[in-house]
Amino acid sequence: MVTGDSAYIKKINRSLILKTIIQHQKISRAELSKITGLNKATISVQVADLLQEEIICESRLEHNSIGRRPIMLSINGNAGYVLGIDLDYHEIIFNICNLQGKSIQMETLHPDTENYDEIVRLLITQIKKYIKAYSNSIYGLVGVVLGIHGTVNKDQSILFIPKYQWHHKDLKSDLEKEVSDIDIYIENNANLSAKAEKTYKYNYSDNLLTVILTSGIGAGIIIDGKLHRGYHGYAGEMGHMIIAPDGIPCKCGNHGCWEKYSSEPSFLEQLSKLSNKKVVHNDVKQLITKQDPTTMELLNDFIRYLSIGLNNIINLYNPETIVLNSEVLKIYPNAVNQIKNNLTSSVSQYREIVLSDLGNKACILGACSYAIQRFLEVPEIVLSMEDERHSKGDQSVEPIYINRAP
Ligand SMILES: [Zn+2]
Repeated sequence: MVTGDSAYIKKINRSLILKTIIQHQKISRAELSKITGLNKATISVQVADLLQEEIICESRLEHNSIGRRPIMLSINGNAGYVLGIDLDYHEIIFNICNLQGKSIQMETLHPDTENYDEIVRLLITQIKKYIKAYSNSIYGLVGVVLGIHGTVNKDQSILFIPKYQWHHKDLKSDLEKEVSDIDIYIENNANLSAKAEKTYKYNYSDNLLTVILTSGIGAGIIIDGKLHRGYHGYAGEMGHMIIAPDGIPCKCGNHGCWEKYSSEPSFLEQLSKLSNKKVVHNDVKQLITKQDPTTMELLNDFIRYLSIGLNNIINLYNPETIVLNSEVLKIYPNAVNQIKNNLTSSVSQYREIVLSDLGNKACILGACSYAIQRFLEVPEIVLSMEDERHSKGDQSVEPIYINRAP
């Protein structure tokens, strides 16, 4: 049993109370006591502190029955703001969320440079701009989380970003030299995307994989509710699993890597080659609608190789939820069924395969949610973009068992 002094226990209780308020959006003191198991006196003292700090606020619940309307507690959304940054190649997305995780401002820049120092300069200018813009709120901008499309060490330094060809960059320190009074955190984009899927969509799933096909293949892995980073922090580089011996050469030095067969760039590249013109996502929709034979054949291959890789990772992780983040699959109505039909192994077990609704916003939403979590010092959070939630009892999600092993 864990023991600790009263300050430690108070901190743990505060974290539990905040986590519960975030999860329920609006909750009364009585419900809070019931759900957390903390007695009413403890709830009363902690809630008074949080109200005084203006981290939470009170409101009256509207209802029609006679009697007093209960006082509800919720996170004071506008007490502070967080900045999530998706640092992609020639495209940097900046997203501001309030403390309730609602996205309130988004900006996309397309810097025409790969120069590290120039990008650092741009990031500093942008972060300072947002600090100033939100300085009138109670806590101002409380955290910045950056998503990196490359390998990030556990100490948050960058090992390698292939598209920028940046090796061994300490971006966090370089930013903190100029922006020292704010919490800055660096994380891999697929990890942040996995976090967003769990935080905003699939709260119930403690074993979730997100596989992102939009630029190469990257995966974010959540095991038993926690992000799995691996020994160095590089877990999830699944695009470089070899699925075809002596196959297509890859920049990583091997042949036959998964992303050479099942990433969107490889699909579009092959389709462009066969069509003798540059094919982009918008063209794919039209080509699928008119059942263009070349497109349909390539799409079948794309899905067949995708299924091979998924079969392998399903056997490694036995996931509850697999979220595929892909624009191409989203415009092909039969994609998920076709993938499921390919997964015929008697030992591959998973619960559900779904397409990401968050799409290219997954990284920034994961970044913002992580910044909120760090500011409020809670172990996990459940957020919603709308006021609807997936829950454990959601009837639309049926468990899937394929040819259950005897
Ligand atoms: Zn490779």
